[in-house]
Amino acid sequence: MHCPFCGETETKVIDSRLVAEGDQVRRRRECLACHERFTTYEIAELLMPRIIKSDGSRVPFDDNKLRTGMQKALEKRPVSMEDVESSINHIKHQLQATGEREVPSRAVGAMVMEQLKKLDKVAYVRFASVYRDFQDLDEFRAEIDRLQPRQGE
Ligand SMILES: [Zn+2]
Repeated sequence: MHCPFCGETETKVIDSRLVAEGDQVRRRRECLACHERFTTYEIAELLMPRIIKSDGSRVPFDDNKLRTGMQKALEKRPVSMEDVESSINHIKHQLQATGEREVPSRAVGAMVMEQLKKLDKVAYVRFASVYRDFQDLDEFRAEIDRLQPRQGE
């Protein structure tokens, strides 16, 4: 990091410690050229990427949508909410780990399928058979909503 005072590229760290309950590293630096001191903070960038929908629009990631979609696929299946939550967390970590700022909704769908496959085969088939024909989770949910009333027949 360049010195903010003179632009020198060589600076040395003279002190480094964890702050904000360990979520940040505070570094005291000294410029090797002008000897001014300054502080930098380092923080992990764990932003959720935005989701690129099939029509090209970008929407914020919404874990409620994910939860609803998975719950619909898992309806009346012997899978605990705890397992669903841990799958959702897994998907969120995967998304953060891509390091991308935007991820196609199809990629999210693929992650959901992968998780459902581990949770429950029936839910996986339900999801896969419907989802395959759809561009994104919103469409999938709409389709499932449409199918719902027929189950009682
Ligand atoms: Zn300097």
